[in-house]
Amino acid sequence: MLLAKLWRDFVELVFPAVCSSCRAGLLPEEEMICITCRLNFPLTHFHRFPTQNAMFDKFKGRLPIALAAAFMHFNENGIAQKLSHQVKYRGNQQLGILLGRWYGNQLLQTDINSQFDCLVPVPLHRQRLKQRGYNQAACFAQGISQVVGLPLREDLVARIKMTSSQVGMDKQQRLQNIADAFEVTAKEQVSQLRILLVDDIVTTGATIEACAMPLVKAGCQKIGVLALANV
Ligand SMILES: [Zn+2]
Repeated sequence: MLLAKLWRDFVELVFPAVCSSCRAGLLPEEEMICITCRLNFPLTHFHRFPTQNAMFDKFKGRLPIALAAAFMHFNENGIAQKLSHQVKYRGNQQLGILLGRWYGNQLLQTDINSQFDCLVPVPLHRQRLKQRGYNQAACFAQGISQVVGLPLREDLVARIKMTSSQVGMDKQQRLQNIADAFEVTAKEQVSQLRILLVDDIVTTGATIEACAMPLVKAGCQKIGVLALANV
């Protein structure tokens, strides 16, 4: 026991834990994100108005969704960008799960539990998944699942087309780039389900739209969208 504690103290001395957002040293009771950053999360509170918010409006006339909500607003160099970068490019899967758990606690104030059957993270192409080793949207969805209790389903839809990076593309280019990128892999099951799609960042909504359309065509009962951040 004493040895384990000494070892832990030693590791913390050599590799002090820092905040995933501002890089300040963490207090022992802080988990991955310092309390100052946590209090400054640019929360959207969209879950309180799930059919009347900026993210829901992106899908109006494009996708028959029942609701849309995001944990945070995305700003250039803001907290959401720093955190999502850590999850997506720096291998910090635990941070993705933690953010999902925190969002899950907010979502407990809603009735999404009874409104939906499962959480479906927007899938990566298997080659991309192999490169990165994990799906950042699935980390976030896993955290939400742990708190709200809806099961995670990663077997319903697959990404069958590798798309080039969407950074710098306009809405039309994004739509074209991602058209036909997804395919339903369990049609019969999908037709019985009310599905909550989960992604990390929603920009134009082109990826969500491309992923949701085949699910809608396969006859899913209902579609909703959750994201870590809305641009
Ligand atoms: Zn911080």
